[in-house]
Amino acid sequence: MIITDTHTHLYSEEFDQDRDEMIQRAIKEGVSRFFIPAIDSSCTQSMYDLEKDYPDNVFLMMGLHPTYVKENYLEELQHVEEELAMRKFYAIGEIGIDLYWDKTHLKEQQIAFRKQIQLAKQYKLPIVIHCREAFDEIFEILEEEKSADLFGVFHCFTGTYEQALQAISYNMKLGIGGVVTFKNGKIDQFLSQIDLKHIVLETDSPYLAPVPFRGKRNESSYLVNVLDKLAQIYELSVKDIASATTENSKVIFGI
Ligand SMILES: [Zn+2]
Repeated sequence: MIITDTHTHLYSEEFDQDRDEMIQRAIKEGVSRFFIPAIDSSCTQSMYDLEKDYPDNVFLMMGLHPTYVKENYLEELQHVEEELAMRKFYAIGEIGIDLYWDKTHLKEQQIAFRKQIQLAKQYKLPIVIHCREAFDEIFEILEEEKSADLFGVFHCFTGTYEQALQAISYNMKLGIGGVVTFKNGKIDQFLSQIDLKHIVLETDSPYLAPVPFRGKRNESSYLVNVLDKLAQIYELSVKDIASATTENSKVIFGI
């Protein structure tokens, strides 16, 4: 059984004490494909180190996270462009709009999101969207930029059924993680109405640990708890969910 974690920050300093053990735990559970979103230029070197240690398991993205769009965002975008020109990445991410932490840089976040969508089209890569309290703002840009060559993942999807359909209409798969196991997470209520072909799995570790680890540090091995929940929702075996969602990840990332 091959399980794919489409969104995991394995380079996070939260794992500095036990990174290798943590990755081995995941691989032992069958979670052996890790897609690694970028945040900003400060994490680039640690992403490359990770790839060097796990060349068969780790697939890197490049991008500027909306929460890190600050005064220097043009320099950061320059860094993204330079890295993209230099080597292979599997997606542009994570990118998007986040109005939960800070609304000060909405304008810059919109510019950075649009610019990185255009880079994704240029390099024929998927985008991985981070959306927090910004569905309207994200959909506005996707509506303008939509095209056959724009596709990707709506990471940590926590919207409504209608918003799920809208995301899918823009060629986005829904990244489903720990939130689906939460009592008040809501998405478990309608997910069975969404065809499994639109779903990929993710932990977003070290954040958003699933039940029964909610509130603790998350890690990729906990993806099996998300898998169990999806097996219940779709009334399928864990094996079937694992293989379907891994296939979906291959369609998106091309590997
Ligand atoms: Zn993330």
